[in-house]
Amino acid sequence: MKFRNFKMVGYVVYGRGCFGQLDEIIAPHRKDGKPMIFLVDHFFNGKPLVERVPVRGNDTIIFADVTYEPKTTYVDQLAQQLKDEFGTVSGVIGIGGGSTMDLAKAVSLMMNNPGSSADYQGWDLVKFPGVYKAGIPTLSGTGAEVSRTTVLTGPTKKLGMNSDFTPFDQIVLDPELTANAPANQRFYTGMDCYIHCIESLEGTYLNEFSKSYGAKALELCREVFVKSNEWNSDCDDKLMMASYAGGMSIAYSQVGVAHAVSYGLSYLLGTKHGIGNCIVMDHLEEYYPEGVKEFKYMVEKNNIDIPKGICKNLSDGDFEKMMNVSLGMKPLWENALGKDWEKIMTREKLRALYEKL
Ligand code: NAD
Ligand code: ZN
Repeated sequence: MKFRNFKMVGYVVYGRGCFGQLDEIIAPHRKDGKPMIFLVDHFFNGKPLVERVPVRGNDTIIFADVTYEPKTTYVDQLAQQLKDEFGTVSGVIGIGGGSTMDLAKAVSLMMNNPGSSADYQGWDLVKFPGVYKAGIPTLSGTGAEVSRTTVLTGPTKKLGMNSDFTPFDQIVLDPELTANAPANQRFYTGMDCYIHCIESLEGTYLNEFSKSYGAKALELCREVFVKSNEWNSDCDDKLMMASYAGGMSIAYSQVGVAHAVSYGLSYLLGTKHGIGNCIVMDHLEEYYPEGVKEFKYMVEKNNIDIPKGICKNLSDGDFEKMMNVSLGMKPLWENALGKDWEKIMTREKLRALYEKL
């Protein structure tokens, strides 16, 4: 048994309004004449948050287009643009949801690694540390703020740049930034955390480290989506910590069936991560009976729409593609179903599951 020796984020600041400390926090990381790049979710273009970004000298704000989840081509384009304009930069600060944070991590890495980000999709392929990078979530749930990966869609696969160089040097957890997220989006991203917890807690990779964080994250998700009758600032505080703890839980375990199946949807249909997980979770009674029951309750209680019938008109070839992507996620299946997972999750069984979605 080899125990994972994992790299964590460097610094963490948490609290309502802590975004106001950003200028002071990044000051020691400014290098002579080299700008800080603020990669800001395009949702905030023209919104008051932009006025609060501590821009100095030749610092630059780039609005991240997250209409689609991050692609390797977009990462390469952003990194090239920065290299052409500045040679190098002091750092990359990602302000937004999981997509923007992943882009920031990947662009930081690509400032110092040759070739295309697609070359580094996999485990421990990144050769050199990136430039200084900070993550500031404006949605809670993905755990991207603490993880050692950045999920990218490349020419041949949807896979992260998993490496010890990937975690942020700094994260700024300010629940005020999530205050105005629309209820559906907040739910889909929040459920990413809930589903991480269920998959981790019901998985075979579980140990006490994962369990401790997973149990806390699950409790916080329940307070927010099961017990609370209306959304308030406490909910924002709690969900942000749930995301953090959920991410820490995954550091020592793995996600499971919902994620493995949802990756196939996202690869073929471009279905977004949060909503895709929800679409799949809705049909996983066989694997996570308690979790799915509670999930359905939360959907109803929070008045959320979960799309149905998204695989209705797909061809055999389409199903094959989704199944190939999904079954390629070996560690997820092994965590969910054990070493003999291939005997349990046959292609026929997976096809039948996709047909239900
Ligand atoms: P997202 O970042 O894709 O954003 C979803 C939508 O919400 C976008 O339209 C965005 O503009 C908008 N948005 C962001 N903040 C907002 C706010 N405060 N108010 C209103 N709208 C806002 O959503 P997400 O669910 O946070 O992230 C999903 C992404 O995270 C996927 O690309 C997924 O692959 C990735 N992910 C990464 C990890 C990891 O460990 N690196 C883990 C899970 C998911
Ligand atoms: Zn997830």
